[in-house]
Amino acid sequence: MAVNDGDRAAARAVRHPAEPVLRVSQVLGPVTALGPGRRLGVWVQGCPLACAGCMSRHTWDPRGGHDVGVARLAALWRRGLAEGYDGLTVSGGEPLEQQAALAALLDAADRVRVAEGRADADLLVYTGWEEAEIAASPEATAVLDRADAVVTGRYRAGEPTALVWRGSANQRLTPRTSLGTRRYGPHLHRTADRPELQIQVTGRAVHIIGVPRPGELSALERDLSARGVTFRENTWRP
Ligand code: SF4
Repeated sequence: MAVNDGDRAAARAVRHPAEPVLRVSQVLGPVTALGPGRRLGVWVQGCPLACAGCMSRHTWDPRGGHDVGVARLAALWRRGLAEGYDGLTVSGGEPLEQQAALAALLDAADRVRVAEGRADADLLVYTGWEEAEIAASPEATAVLDRADAVVTGRYRAGEPTALVWRGSANQRLTPRTSLGTRRYGPHLHRTADRPELQIQVTGRAVHIIGVPRPGELSALERDLSARGVTFRENTWRP
């Protein structure tokens, strides 16, 4: 599942002027490499943190991406749940740059999962904010209290980790609800020999989903090049 031009046109056509809108880089599903099970993935657009080695530099510019109404995202979430999705992952970009819209999305996603009888489907948010920065902001804390689990902290390329779903050793996976504890508790210290990476192709774009280790994207690019597949541009080099 991906938001295509038709979806975007429909979203613009039905959006109420007062409806919360999220600036989004992409929406994909099913995502299997960012949290447990099959998930809807929402990558927000805009990040001022500029971590060295970020694989998603295309999400930095807040003027990039496109607007998607929260109602449209909730409809995609409902469709995903009907297809058996296990959760929603919000990544970026920096979700806490859009706190009101993020809160609206998480509230809508919660209402939908309850209405669909899928209260077991979890809400996971990735943020580059550190725990101390979140704790110092009552507003950010209130937004993240809507999530079942959060992954926090800047990406630090010099601190690789084998912990699942984290990009560097400093990043913390923290359950915030009883569902989050049940769902993520077994994974807090779980490591993997190789990170799980997922590749999806939409149109002429190849999406590499997951948290690669240092050097893996360049190695993948070399492997593909040797097979005659070259990228016109990629999202991890300036
Ligand atoms: S790793 Fe995340 S927080 Fe860091 S620059 Fe990239 S999108 Fe922003």
